[in-house]
Amino acid sequence: MKLLKEKIMSEGLVLNDAILKVDSFLNHQIDPELMMEIGKEFHRRFSGCGITKIFTIESSGIACALPAGLCMHVPVVFARKQKSALMSSEAYSTKVYSFTKKVTSDVTVLKKFLPAGEKILIIDDFLANGEAALGLANIVQQAGSEVVGIGIVIEKSFQPGRQRLIDAGFRVESLARVQAFKDGKVIFAE
Ligand code: 5GP
Repeated sequence: MKLLKEKIMSEGLVLNDAILKVDSFLNHQIDPELMMEIGKEFHRRFSGCGITKIFTIESSGIACALPAGLCMHVPVVFARKQKSALMSSEAYSTKVYSFTKKVTSDVTVLKKFLPAGEKILIIDDFLANGEAALGLANIVQQAGSEVVGIGIVIEKSFQPGRQRLIDAGFRVESLARVQAFKDGKVIFAE
């Protein structure tokens, strides 16, 4: 997606050999117009798939998933990273290791928002090792619903996430694929 790549090139900061910082338009400050274009692009790529719900993870996933939900006219559900006192037997949960925070957290969603028989599109901001997306897919499967696809805003193709998701049988659509970081610059895969 051209607009996204341009934004990454002009505002993305390569922090080290593994992390890209995009806090000026996605992870802290949010560019609503860019998010809207991202939503339209996910809608275009998954049109005709019969998606009934979008599933993401707090917090940055929400900004990317919401405009997609708006375009597809389906609800957006986000998994929480901390168990709340309200959630117990009424919730699905799984453990997800965070690539950026280097901690494992319980990722939880209330069962009532993820009934069986849904056709789910999983959306997240970044794909690195695939832990978050696989965790979300695990919850969808616990719920007895189908993962129709996984939509990623920024994929770091030099990390194993994409292959892990494909090996698990999922369709992966990434709007920007980063092949490498070179001299502090982002090199795109295509
Ligand atoms: P994974 O679970 O695929 O290993 O990593 C994806 C998750 O880690 C995303 O939800 C995102 O929050 C975070 N993440 C992974 N790589 C990056 C990165 O380069 N930059 C930022 N800002 N977040 C990342």
